[in-house]
Amino acid sequence: MEIAPKHRPFIIAIDGPAGSGKTTTAKALAKELGFIYVDTGAMYRAVALFAQRRGVSMADRDAICTLLDDVDIRLERTDGSQHTMLNGEDVEQHIRTQEMSKAASDISAIPCVREAMVDLQRHAAKDAMGAVLEGRDIGTVVFPDSPCKIYLVADTPTRAERRKKQLEEKGIAADLETIRREIEERDRNDAAREHSPLRKADDAIEVETTNTSIDEQVSMILSLVWKRIDQFQKGQSI
Ligand code: C5P
Repeated sequence: MEIAPKHRPFIIAIDGPAGSGKTTTAKALAKELGFIYVDTGAMYRAVALFAQRRGVSMADRDAICTLLDDVDIRLERTDGSQHTMLNGEDVEQHIRTQEMSKAASDISAIPCVREAMVDLQRHAAKDAMGAVLEGRDIGTVVFPDSPCKIYLVADTPTRAERRKKQLEEKGIAADLETIRREIEERDRNDAAREHSPLRKADDAIEVETTNTSIDEQVSMILSLVWKRIDQFQKGQSI
């Protein structure tokens, strides 16, 4: 597909709570459209891992802000999958644990961390024809002018089941009840924080995914996105 130069990069913002289907949807959209895919949660996870390795508590805000000078995060694609690079090391496996989910949620409440990650996210999309970004604040803060914002929701048991499956696919053992408690706690943290809390942008389309298969979800969202791209290219208000 082609996007007229004046509309580039065409940003698709996918937000929602943990396990709502953002990753699968965002990856499928990016593949279908030939856009780049940016997993913004991976960036917060990488900062949390770096702090943990340096022995800095996620609660020590000043120390965390100082640490940021030593952090270089890049998202690379090799062999069709994403690799999160932290100072040149592939940390993809290390950042996907339950411990890092909680640490990422804690560290993401710190304003200096958010500012640095938002810069990185805007930069990552800069030269692309189009980009699909998934996170918690893409439609509200990172790209508030995005012409295409999707907010995914699903009930907690469904999200816990999905998270368990994802972890198991990565070879990480997971207990369903522990995951359910962890995502509920993370939702509370993410929605209650002062800076860039998780919330639906006023102009985002909410998509409920509890009873939809992933294929149905992707094809439904893809047709929404095509409609938006078409309207946008024709210069209609959307
Ligand atoms: O999406 P993922 O589960 O990898 O995100 C991990 C944590 O990073 C979230 O629980 C949230 O606290 C934080 N995050 C954020 N803003 C984003 C993406 C993730 O605060 N745009």
